[in-house]
This record gives sequence, C-alpha cells and structure tokens, in this order.
Amino acid sequence: MTLRMAIPNKGRLNERTVELLMKSGLDLGEDWGRRLYISVKNQDLEVVFVRAQDVPELINTGAVDFGITGWDQVAESGYKMQKLLDLEFGYCRLSVAVPENLGMRSPSEIPDGCKVATSFPKLTKSYFERIGKKVKIIQVSGAAEIMPYMGVSDIIVDLVSSGSTLKMNRLTELDVIVKSQAVAICGKLEAEKKEAVTDILDSIRSVIEAEKKIYLMADVPVKNLKAVERACPGIEGPTIMNIAGRDDMVAIHVVIDKSDVFDSVNKLKKLGGKGILILPIDRLVA
Ligand code: AMP
Repeated sequence: MTLRMAIPNKGRLNERTVELLMKSGLDLGEDWGRRLYISVKNQDLEVVFVRAQDVPELINTGAVDFGITGWDQVAESGYKMQKLLDLEFGYCRLSVAVPENLGMRSPSEIPDGCKVATSFPKLTKSYFERIGKKVKIIQVSGAAEIMPYMGVSDIIVDLVSSGSTLKMNRLTELDVIVKSQAVAICGKLEAEKKEAVTDILDSIRSVIEAEKKIYLMADVPVKNLKAVERACPGIEGPTIMNIAGRDDMVAIHVVIDKSDVFDSVNKLKKLGGKGILILPIDRLVA
C-alpha cells in the first residue's frame, strides 16, 4: 500500500516542509529540489510537489492521501478536510486592507460597490456577505497590494504576516478573515492508510517538539541534588547516574525547554554544577 503525499513545490512553505520531512526520517534523496515527484527511499511513500493552493484539490480528488499546505488554502478551497497537525510555521492572516488615504478605520465604513482585489475570492465573498456589504470581487493571482494604486481595485484582501508589506504600500489593515499556519491535512482515509499517515505525522510532531527542547548534562554535588531537581525538573525528573570513584558528585541528564537554558545553567552553576553540556535533540516522542 503506497501512500501519496502532496507538499508545496516552492514559495514560503516549501523549505521548512522539506526540512521537517527529512528530519523526521524520510529520505527524499539529494535532488528533491529539481523533481516534481519523489519515491521516498526508506518508506512506502510518494511525495508530489505542487503549488500550495493545489494541495487541497489533490486531496479532494483522491490523487493523494494527505498533504501539507497553509490553512488559508484549505479554507479557500471550501473542501471538508481533516486537520491532522498544526506545523507551527507559515503563520499569517488573511486580512482586509485599505489605502491609508481613504481614512477608513473599520470594515463598517467600506461602501457598497467597493472593488476588492484578492486571490482568495471564496473567503472574501463569504466575509463581505457576512458583514452585509455588496462588493465587487476582482480575482488576481498575486501582488494584490499594488491593485489599488493601479486603479484596479479600491481595497484588497490579502495574506499578511509581519504587516511590513502593507505598511510599505501604505495600506491599513481593517479586519482579519482567517488566521493561518502550515498544516497537515487529509480527506477520508481507509483505516490502514490512516494508520500509516498517523505514523508519519507522529514523527513530524516529534521533530517539532524536539526543536523546542535541549538535552542538558551536568555533574552536580549529591548534597544539592534536591535543589538541582527543583531547578531542572525535566519531563519526568532528571536521570541521575553515579560517577566512577566519586561519592560526592553525580551526573544528571535532563530535557529542558530551550527558553530555560540561560536560567537553568546559571542555577546549576550556583548549585556547584560542573562540566555542563548542552546538546540538541533530534526527536522527542512523549
Ligand atoms: P507562496 O507559495 O509563497 O505564495 O505561499 C503560500 C502560502 O504561504 C500561503 O498560502 C500561506 O499559507 C503562507 N504564507 C505565510 N505567510 C505569508 C505571507 N506573508 N504572504 C503570503 N503567504 C504567506
């Protein structure tokens, strides 16, 4: 039973998606960048590279079993998909933005008959219907920000991440239609395939979790062990090991949050910690 997966072939989501697959142990080979399709060497899995917006379509038609794309693309497709995992990158929002010089502060000020440029026509249509505005949607496939200045539209609905592109183009964000990040999704799957997909996603999840943690090793005085345990509780308490020929010191191994490294190392030093080592973790299977 060969599984098929669709992932973005270029653009913002491509690089990190490939990185996650590789780190989770799927061997895409050396030349994945030049190929539209890859048979993963060490798994019964085929990976197809397509545009981010085509991933939901491929899943919906059954051409692939699951895939990775932005949640915005899933929402725009209108297809009922199951979200399997938030991938914690590709954060953005689909927003309504207007030229600063129009002086609008709220979507309620958008006049009927307004022209809206967007590459998300379905979400835009349902948004303006929801807020009771009659607008004319002009579908573009990118660079929506420029459309008001080209006289193509009055306002836009577009993806925003930091907001700097909006600022550069003198646009004000009025409302957020959808919040998005990269996700793994599937349609209806038979039990056997579902299980295989779950195994792959568990592996990806373990990579994402591991990236937030580090592995810390240190030699600490036995007399301070209780305080060390409080300073570095780890997942289920630190692992404690004897050091050959030493009754006064033990070695501890512990997994801690990356954001705690600075504090933990300082606390350990104050408690007499020596030979403190900090190592990356490849995977964390809870
Ligand atoms: P791309 O192929 O580069 O057009 O990227 C497509 C996907 O990247 C979008 O559907 C979003 O999910 C995601 N993305 C994240 N941040 C942004 C952004 N600032 N602008 C456009 N796409 C973004």
